[in-house]
Amino acid sequence: MSVWTDKTANLLVDGEWCPGSGGRFETADPATEEVLGTAANATPADLDRAIAAARRAFDDTEWSRDVDLRVRCLEQLGTALHNHADELRELTIAEVGAPRFLTHGAQLDAPVADLAYFAELAAGYEWTRDLGVAAPMGMPSRRWTRREAVGVVGAITPWNFPHQINLAKLGPALAAGNTVVLKPAPDTPWCAAAVAEILHRETDIPPGVVNVVTSDDHALGAQLSADERVDLVSFTGSTATGRAVMAAAAPGIKRTFLELGGKSAFVVLDDADLGAACGLAAFTVCTHAGQGCALTTRLLVPRARYDEAVEATAKALRGIGVGDPGDPGTVCGPLISARQRDRVEGYLTLARREGGEFVTGGGRAERDRGFFVEPTLIAGLTNDARVAREEIFGPVLVILPHDGDDDAVRIANDSPYGLSGAVHGGDLERARAVAARLRTGTVGVNGGVWYGGDAPFGGYKQSGIGREMGVAGFEEYLETKLIAEPA
Ligand code: NAD
Repeated sequence: MSVWTDKTANLLVDGEWCPGSGGRFETADPATEEVLGTAANATPADLDRAIAAARRAFDDTEWSRDVDLRVRCLEQLGTALHNHADELRELTIAEVGAPRFLTHGAQLDAPVADLAYFAELAAGYEWTRDLGVAAPMGMPSRRWTRREAVGVVGAITPWNFPHQINLAKLGPALAAGNTVVLKPAPDTPWCAAAVAEILHRETDIPPGVVNVVTSDDHALGAQLSADERVDLVSFTGSTATGRAVMAAAAPGIKRTFLELGGKSAFVVLDDADLGAACGLAAFTVCTHAGQGCALTTRLLVPRARYDEAVEATAKALRGIGVGDPGDPGTVCGPLISARQRDRVEGYLTLARREGGEFVTGGGRAERDRGFFVEPTLIAGLTNDARVAREEIFGPVLVILPHDGDDDAVRIANDSPYGLSGAVHGGDLERARAVAARLRTGTVGVNGGVWYGGDAPFGGYKQSGIGREMGVAGFEEYLETKLIAEPA
């Protein structure tokens, strides 16, 4: 894979692995701040060519109608990526700062394996369904539905879990028969380009079906959202950018599928094992330095045991600390960039101004280099504080007291977001009842892990529209056509 060996990456446009017309931009290692190499910098004209190629591949080839070809190509892609897993793993650790242990799950191996799930889903899918005969206006008619690909998908992705998010869009979009233009985040061009190169060299995916356009210019995302040749924008990123995507898509009444931010609550009920729950909450917020949209970042504990919970959580956070992402034991690596570290530090300053107490952490970790922030616990605030309401995207946990199950549900739901959550309790039925009342797309009960290729994931409220993965995620990429004939 030349991206990793030659330290540079190209664009994939209309079946060609080609340099962009905007020169090259650098990608760096967030743990060392060293430049890793360069990626092709696409211009608006390059993106325009990519959209035209995707349009042609959809309109003028059999791709959207040939399920067998798509199934075979997705299986090839899964196998090819699996065969390059060692290189992809090192690349991902270097470019994303992803802890090594996570590359054995959601940062690499899991989304690669999930491609087989989407291939299997397409192979066995009920593409047409007979609705039988009806005569609502006195004319007996036989009706059936056909599920068809939406068309050209513009996929816009963030940097935090690049393979997971890129492949969770490519897999179902291709399985459903769409063609794709993928615009990854400027911070992680290599992750997307490496997949593109492998796809280009080692699969039979026809030219134009997948186009990958890296750029340091966010405006390309806006261009892709607005272009009328694009039928669906599949976006993952911040809620603020999601709004801009919706606005850009509105004039063309373009479908938007949005996976956005979160401020998820970890609810500890009064019959829970408090120590175990606080330990898990600390581990969760430290995972990939808190750079996960669905990580729980508000810890809600019974008021009577608040001090005990504060102490247990702080101790667990201190025990985790930060580490080199390449080390198999590291949970909390660096933030992706100086910009993100500044953002997190801005929130720490705000927490201080709002009267928050740093029980542990509260600033940069003591390291010579890299964008590391200490695991931080903020106590002494209410859910009205901005640091309890806004997404920080760092290893920062706000601990809040609650006065029983109803109060915990009220606080958890008092958020503009609705992405995820967790409930811990000794009585499983009671914990399930609280989980059912959370207005979020996923909830883990007593440590249950909701992530999986077959498990629909997405947000309520301002955390998004639609579901990724699972059958629901696949069907986001389909239209429904109803055909009727005289019976
Ligand atoms: P971001 O919103 O800044 O950028 C995401 C992508 O949008 C990038 O590719 C960027 O170049 C592009 N973009 C920027 N401006 C655009 C515009 N006006 N129109 C179209 N595209 C534009 O997000 P980020 O900083 O890369 O990622 C972090 C955010 O992503 C967090 O808010 C996090 O919660 C969210 N996220 C959500 C999920 C989810 O599934 N719900 C998953 C991961 C990350």
